[in-house]
Amino acid sequence: MTFPPKDPFLLTPGPLTTSATVKQAMLRDWGSRDGAFIELNARIRNRLVEMIGGGGEFAAVPLQGSGTFAVEAMIGTLVPRTGKLLVLVNGAYGHRMVRIAEVIGRAVTMIETAEDLPVSPEALDRALAEDPAVTHVAVVQCETTSGILNPLQRVAEVTARHGRALLVDAMSAFGALPLDARETPLQAVAASSNKCLEGVPGTGFVLVRRTALEAARGNAHSLTLDLHDQWRGFEANAQWRFTPPTHVLAAFDQALSEHAAEGGVAGRGARYRENCRILVEGLRAMGFETLLPDALQAPVIVTVRMPADPAFDFPHFYERMRKRGYVLYPGKLTVADSFRIGCIGRLGAAEMRGALEAIRNTLAEMGVASGRP
Ligand SMILES: *Cc1c(COP(=O)(O)O)cnc(C)c1O
Repeated sequence: MTFPPKDPFLLTPGPLTTSATVKQAMLRDWGSRDGAFIELNARIRNRLVEMIGGGGEFAAVPLQGSGTFAVEAMIGTLVPRTGKLLVLVNGAYGHRMVRIAEVIGRAVTMIETAEDLPVSPEALDRALAEDPAVTHVAVVQCETTSGILNPLQRVAEVTARHGRALLVDAMSAFGALPLDARETPLQAVAASSNKCLEGVPGTGFVLVRRTALEAARGNAHSLTLDLHDQWRGFEANAQWRFTPPTHVLAAFDQALSEHAAEGGVAGRGARYRENCRILVEGLRAMGFETLLPDALQAPVIVTVRMPADPAFDFPHFYERMRKRGYVLYPGKLTVADSFRIGCIGRLGAAEMRGALEAIRNTLAEMGVASGRP
């Protein structure tokens, strides 16, 4: 499934394993003003808008950089300098949005929940009733810190009922978990080429309501991260303002074709759910415990509690798994000692079973009797 075959499987939150054909799409050079390249960009932008049922109301604004660049551009462009952002936080990516707002000088407040609990629409409801200064609410759809799925629909309904605008960081969910702008009232959603869309890293994008983009002129704190200006550039001549990551975009175009061929969001989501199910079942059979109950677990990345067996040592476990061809991910939690295993990227049931087999062999080698925490 991968190319070249000696690459390890990346069971991480990104960068992720990509298909051979996505990598092959990068084996040529593109002129940024070339007709074919301009078409490729238009195709990407249209497909992204279609994915959320955005019709004529949303525009896709791609931006060079990793996902965080897109999130920073979304906040900096859409929250006016006189605005105020309320962030729902239950992990590192929520905290990152608070940090962005602080660095760029936007008024910001947060409601924090523990990392193993979903954000609270009820607390949001109370906060919005109490603080009329809040203009925008920001939430992470799947908080990759733990792998938890947040109640986006209810957050969106509460935000809309109070007449505020919603900004969504859908980075680790976009393309695999449903999000429909006709059902979920939102102003903008940010994601990137390299998570569930299975492109290579290097570009992010924000899908923004056109009326909000029009109103955002002059808001941005930064020239390069100004989504209004970037959008104007695309509308004027279908080109990027600054050197585009041409090879990344060629790979992204191919990745989106493969996403459509797999059955779009439903097909991709089904493969990841099956990956996650196999992984969690296999881990539990070895005594491991997941941080989250199944009802809160998004099929993206699984947080596993650290085994109690004194023979278990994560750095050694990691190294031995890496030698067997599987890259895991350390934990990032404050609530529990843990590590993480991702189930997104170009991986299927065979790779999940392979990873479980490698874990079994590694535990035996280390003399660990059980994964029990
Ligand atoms: C990966 C991710 C990001 C962006 O991270 P980058 O390292 O900048 O690509 C933002 N939010 C969430 C929820 C993520 O999973």
